[in-house]
Amino acid sequence: MIPPRFEYFAPSSIDEAVQILDRFGGEAKVLAGGQSLLPVMKLRLAEPRALVDINRIPDLAHIREDAKSLRIGATTRTNDLNDSELIHARYPILSDAAYEIADPLVRNMGTVGGNVSHGDPANDLPACMLALGAHFVVRSPTGTRTIPAKEFYQDTFVTALESNELLLEIQIPKARPGQGNAYVKLEKRIGDFPIVGVAANLVLTTKGTIESAGLALTAVGPTALKATEAERHLVGKAPEDDAFQRAAELAQEITSPVSDLRGPAEYKRAMVRVLALRALHRASARAHGGA
Ligand SMILES: Cc1cc2nc3c(=O)[nH]c(=O)nc-3n(C[C@H](O)[C@H](O)[C@H](O)COP(=O)(O)OP(=O)(O)OC[C@H]3O[C@@H](n4cnc5c(N)ncnc54)[C@H](O)[C@@H]3O)c2cc1C
Repeated sequence: MIPPRFEYFAPSSIDEAVQILDRFGGEAKVLAGGQSLLPVMKLRLAEPRALVDINRIPDLAHIREDAKSLRIGATTRTNDLNDSELIHARYPILSDAAYEIADPLVRNMGTVGGNVSHGDPANDLPACMLALGAHFVVRSPTGTRTIPAKEFYQDTFVTALESNELLLEIQIPKARPGQGNAYVKLEKRIGDFPIVGVAANLVLTTKGTIESAGLALTAVGPTALKATEAERHLVGKAPEDDAFQRAAELAQEITSPVSDLRGPAEYKRAMVRVLALRALHRASARAHGGA
């Protein structure tokens, strides 16, 4: 299918991009990898008057660690998460998720910024960002602000981004000793959107108890869901099956899956518990230095 007519802009700076977005007052869309936006335009579910292609803006594609954070630029390609030794070694939750997103063609085009900005509850990276306690740095013509991932996802395809704001960078607290994380996804066929996905992040004290926990879910609610009660339950406990079983139950309680081609709601709900257990055990093994 052919998308409706639109004006096309390819700004070479962030300032220029946000000025164009502002000028169109909500009728322009950012174009990053186009892997989500172009399909919805072809189906005429979105009909923006203008596209603002951000691929020519320098310094928006990077993966680097500084004293406090892992910083991922918005136009970093999904496959770059797979190719990064830093990510594999210190933030494996992101390479777990990236490896199972679509296929190499989509991963080479699709961006990390696009994946988290789209607001699709079936996208895999938002749950990882919730579990990791990420912050999103965004710019508008009036300045820059930082939005915690837990405040970013408001409803299906609705995020805290204003129409004149551009996501510049994702900042994730720097990995610490005793930290381990994992993303576990159930899909019908390799490369499919998830039936259910679970992201888990654990930081252990030197005594081996859980100092902090992040647990978030994909595709079982209107947005990616942060399982706050389950996280609270884990803090102070030993990273063992008893604590993980209860956390998985608490995670299951916040879900509201719908029955669709990927499976009945009850099946998805049951799978949340199974996948949460797997993700927590894997995160714990990694926190203890395992693969
Ligand atoms: C066949 C297929 C299978 C897929 N399977 C999966 C899957 O299993 N898991 C998964 O997670 N995803 C999957 N996807 C989606 C894919 O990961 C997309 O690449 C991703 O959702 C969007 O990234 P993008 O760079 O292509 O964004 P675009 O399509 O360019 O943009 C998506 C939305 O985000 C906005 N946006 C993009 N960048 C910014 C920015 N920097 N600031 C503000 N707004 C921005 C756009 O305006 C648009 O509204 C699949 C896609 C396809 C085509």
